[in-house]
Amino acid sequence: MTGPMSPETLLALRDVCRSYSMRRGLLGRPTAVHAVDGVSLTVEKGRTLGLVGESGSGKSTTGRLALGLEPPDRGAVLFKGEPLPKDGTQEWRAMRARMQMIYQDPLGALDRRLPILEQVREPLDVHGIGEAKARDEKALALLQSVGLRADQGSRYPHELSGGQRQRAVIARALATGPDLLVCDEPVSALDVSIQAQVVNLLVDLQEELGLGLLFISHDLKVVRQVSHRVAVMYLGRIVEEGEADLLLHAPAHPYTEALVSASPEPGRRARPRIVLQGDPPNPAARPSGCAFHPRCHAARERCKVETPALLPLPDGRLTACHVAHDQANFLTSPLLKAAS
Ligand code: SF4
Repeated sequence: MTGPMSPETLLALRDVCRSYSMRRGLLGRPTAVHAVDGVSLTVEKGRTLGLVGESGSGKSTTGRLALGLEPPDRGAVLFKGEPLPKDGTQEWRAMRARMQMIYQDPLGALDRRLPILEQVREPLDVHGIGEAKARDEKALALLQSVGLRADQGSRYPHELSGGQRQRAVIARALATGPDLLVCDEPVSALDVSIQAQVVNLLVDLQEELGLGLLFISHDLKVVRQVSHRVAVMYLGRIVEEGEADLLLHAPAHPYTEALVSASPEPGRRARPRIVLQGDPPNPAARPSGCAFHPRCHAARERCKVETPALLPLPDGRLTACHVAHDQANFLTSPLLKAAS
């Protein structure tokens, strides 16, 4: 994952770490919480990387690091092969125009006091895009490209439905002609009936504009619809990463297996449900060895003391699991081949 960069690579995170200081109680000593711990990933032009995991896994922090909204403590974030410029500089603003964020809560992302069309026009004004006279027209075209009508441009955010508001947020994000969208739970706050429409819109826009998407979600059902590749995060680290079809149909890591079993794919035979044991992860109290071992149905003694590295399996995916690698080594061992 840290080899030479393909010309199609828009975003690359290389061994990125981010920790925060947290105090337990008023008199407790501050402890470092590793929200993101050695994450490497890439997003290609015209492709979607789904980033999944439970709440507290570090997905959203990874999204903010990817956009330069907070700096990494260690590691590098590269956009089109270049490190992100210093926050607040002209270079940073120019680069930020090429990468935009879609948040979970469209009402929070919009200004309640301004009509929608003005808000879609705003980035054109800020970045001086096009002739001032033509910007209303361009904003209108953007609204229509996301399926909103011209008359909806004169409405205020509270006068639109949740799905329409998220369409307006997407239109505004597209105003600067970005190459990359970081979507953080973009449909989680919407009715299930509307979710598919917004997801389909993102897929259509990607096909039309060649956008790269980093799609962050806890919902595997949605991730399955949009992703070409999937990375699974647990307690700040990526534990499995590979082609979406492979990962979601034949997970190798027991955590991915549990997530997949909880979200069966319509039309496919459901896998036996694996119920995760124990509490959801607490980033401030990372277990020893493999951090997943207290909840893992396949854990061995070794898992309590030895941290598994994220290494390739013969099918090309990356997995951080002792047992998955032992099984793969056994299945490809010369002894087994000779015996068969
Ligand atoms: Fe489970 Fe061990 Fe694999 Fe961790 S390394 S996922 S505890 S089997």
